[in-house]
Amino acid sequence: MTHFRDLTLYSYGVAESSQAGACNIGWLSADVAFPMASSEPQFVDRLWRYCKVSVGQTRGLHECEICRSREANVARRNADELLLGSAEIRVISGQGQLYAAPNLIYHYVVSHNYSPPPEFVLAVLEGPCPPEEGYYHLLTKMGIDWSNTLVPERGSKSFRFVKTPEGVVKVDQSGDSSKPSR
Ligand SMILES: [Zn+2]
Repeated sequence: MTHFRDLTLYSYGVAESSQAGACNIGWLSADVAFPMASSEPQFVDRLWRYCKVSVGQTRGLHECEICRSREANVARRNADELLLGSAEIRVISGQGQLYAAPNLIYHYVVSHNYSPPPEFVLAVLEGPCPPEEGYYHLLTKMGIDWSNTLVPERGSKSFRFVKTPEGVVKVDQSGDSSKPSR
């Protein structure tokens, strides 16, 4: 995955002008050290809610470069499961600052103790958060397309990632160990 330093200007993926002022968050790479600390449960809870809303859905699936585990793409919280690694999230602070992060950020925080910048943590804690209506209103106002984050198929113990003709990532139980492609 492409690496961007935290809080640099977002320029990846969708190039909508309304997102010109967005800040990069959580574009981690195995080669670059990142700040680590354990995160507050309330922050992780809300981050999970943001991860349910995908922006910039891509066809391929990024693996976590830090652990290189395919299991990293299937995230679980309470009774929920999400397929992470093929889309981004948007967080909007109370002051209207937009942040763009890969949705693998949830895995980075939970499994690798990634500690995002305090201003992002504050935005997650205090900004409009899905499923609040105000969050979707802001996305619409900013011209940002979103979709519901993909969910792994129920009960799949071994899985792989395939591209359908429509370009949607699906998970099946074939047990094929081929690596996901972009
Ligand atoms: Zn990982």
